[in-house]
Amino acid sequence: MVKLYLVFAVFAFIYVNCDAQQRKIIDVHFHTRSAGDYGMPPPPNPVTGKAPDAGTNDAILRNNYALLKKYNVVKAICSGTLLRNADYVTKDPERFISALEFPDHQNNLLPDTDTFKKLIREKKFAVFGELGLQYEGKTLDQPEYEPYIAICERFGIPIAIHMGLGPPETPYHGFPNFTVASGNPFYLEPVLKKHAKLKLQIMHMGYPYLEETKAIMYVYPQVYADISVIDWVLPKEEFYQYLKAIITAGHEKQIMYGSDQMIWEDAIPLSIRMIEAAPFLNEKQKQDIFYNNAARFYGIK
Ligand SMILES: [Zn+2]
Repeated sequence: MVKLYLVFAVFAFIYVNCDAQQRKIIDVHFHTRSAGDYGMPPPPNPVTGKAPDAGTNDAILRNNYALLKKYNVVKAICSGTLLRNADYVTKDPERFISALEFPDHQNNLLPDTDTFKKLIREKKFAVFGELGLQYEGKTLDQPEYEPYIAICERFGIPIAIHMGLGPPETPYHGFPNFTVASGNPFYLEPVLKKHAKLKLQIMHMGYPYLEETKAIMYVYPQVYADISVIDWVLPKEEFYQYLKAIITAGHEKQIMYGSDQMIWEDAIPLSIRMIEAAPFLNEKQKQDIFYNNAARFYGIK
């Protein structure tokens, strides 16, 4: 009898672990960085201390790609320059979806609206983001962005915007116009009121603007939020508390997994494990966060 239990336990263990391995994942906040974007030599991962092998564009792509395949990340929304995104999309057009980042790490200007439309028609990008307007102390409700928002709404292009915080000492290191205040999700409301059909993704789940994020997600249920960066940079309990608060508020169908791995591809397994290990999430909620919600938001079949 004891033997029988043992056999059963071994099979149950194998089954559970296979299931975790086979889980399909969409990373809605993936970056296509180029060698030198973060200086040379590339700095180590601030959490793990691991120095990335990011000396060449090829090494960055190869290392990220290997981990995406290993963890069954079947789709990744690639935020970066269109030139760099093309490397990824060419490598694996089924897996990678190009997103136009602004501002980007190569100081590209925002294309004029005609070019912007042309690029959409030519399928050079399918998502507008990451919009790091906060790093310039700007907000999406400023008039200069209105024509772009209108185009995105008309063409069904989701907008994904950085909200919440930046790294410690951001204003002292290259972003003097950055403000904490401009990361407040309340700045999205005028845009949402004017553009009811716009698909909008709050990146980093608006951390630490919990009340504001909840209010926006409640009143505008078309708004989804990604958990990127806070799922590996924050102290675990702080991240869990924040995520749990959004779920308790009733928004479990609006939450999407993202890594925001930047140049540190080891953030991919770190952030995946953080969700897998969350004691308050059931299996269905994990599947929703890892895949189903993003599939619905991005229209991925
Ligand atoms: Zn961001």
